[in-house]
Amino acid sequence: MLAEGPLSKAEISHRVGSVPQLMSSSVLKSLDQVVFSESKLDAARKAKISEGFAAVAAQSQEGASAYNLNFRTGGRIGPNAFALPDGTLVLTDELVDLAGADDDMIIGVLAHEIGHVEHKHSLRQLYRAAGTVGLIMLIAGDVGSATEDILTQGGGLLALSYSRDAEREADSRSAELMLAAGRDPQALMRFFEVIQKKLGNGEGPGILSTHPPTEERRQAIAAYVETLRKKQAP
Ligand SMILES: [Zn+2]
Repeated sequence: MLAEGPLSKAEISHRVGSVPQLMSSSVLKSLDQVVFSESKLDAARKAKISEGFAAVAAQSQEGASAYNLNFRTGGRIGPNAFALPDGTLVLTDELVDLAGADDDMIIGVLAHEIGHVEHKHSLRQLYRAAGTVGLIMLIAGDVGSATEDILTQGGGLLALSYSRDAEREADSRSAELMLAAGRDPQALMRFFEVIQKKLGNGEGPGILSTHPPTEERRQAIAAYVETLRKKQAP
């Protein structure tokens, strides 16, 4: 329980402001305990992905320094990538393995995750998962195991999918950022086609279950890329 007296208004407002950071570190810490293990990718592979990611993140609203890419073995979470509201991104070895040597596909997925952060989708999702009690505990400074349980529920949080509109926004952002960084803006969709062939249809864990690749999505990205290219042309 809390030992301190009532919080001042300034202190409360400061703590409310740091909720995204508190939530993010709490979630990553719990996932590290419950599902993740250390990445087994070799250092050169990690460096190349990090470099490509930094170039794309540099095109984002907040710039590259706002993002922090982490590598993990996903375990139950499988081939996946996700973003926490403070700009912490996690990429699993399993996803890298599926993409093979095609870095554009990996960076396209990460650019999509930047889109979720910029549009505050991740924050809203975590607020929903934490509920009022979890938020009050975070703000009160009682970031104990109960808060962590509420936020992660053994990784169940990651099984929540974003709305279709949120996906469309993140897809568009991926195309914009990839194009701006001189990479293939349709790499994200190529990735979904590849994994759909390899894994089948969205059964079990992994990015397919939280990000169902629909024909509608594919067409929307293709059309958006065409618009972007027209805008770029002299
Ligand atoms: Zn998404």
